[in-house]
Amino acid sequence: MKNCIFCKIINREIPSNIVYEDEKVIAFNDINPAAPIHILVIPKKHIETLLDISEEDSSLIAYIYQIINKIAEEKGFDKKGFRVITNCGEDSGQEVKHIHFHVLAGKKLGDKIVG
Ligand code: 5GP
Ligand code: ZN
Repeated sequence: MKNCIFCKIINREIPSNIVYEDEKVIAFNDINPAAPIHILVIPKKHIETLLDISEEDSSLIAYIYQIINKIAEEKGFDKKGFRVITNCGEDSGQEVKHIHFHVLAGKKLGDKIVG
């Protein structure tokens, strides 16, 4: 999608630190990390928000979680744990309108989901 910052990352129009890529998914380090490990995992298909996931996308979304596990094992943070967050819409503060899964790890993330 033209003017989408994450589509530009997929197309190498914007540089990023890619940690995983295949034909369906790409993962790269967040430019403004909120934890020692902060990876964004996204489908290459431009889907704006969680609300735009169609029935035909359901296997793609499940696949993203498989890839998150694979990255966690490869980087070794599966042992101590991690958190996956997806913002959706205005109240969540979603800035980039291309669905993305924040994967946070590398420190105790606290017992609160928000904050
Ligand atoms: P949101 O607030 O939409 O859930 O998260 C967007 C995330 O994308 C933020 O954590 C932000 O730091 C990250 N981000 C925004 N622009 C870029 C960029 O150009 N490159 C990378 N690597 N991350 C970005
Ligand atoms: Zn996009």
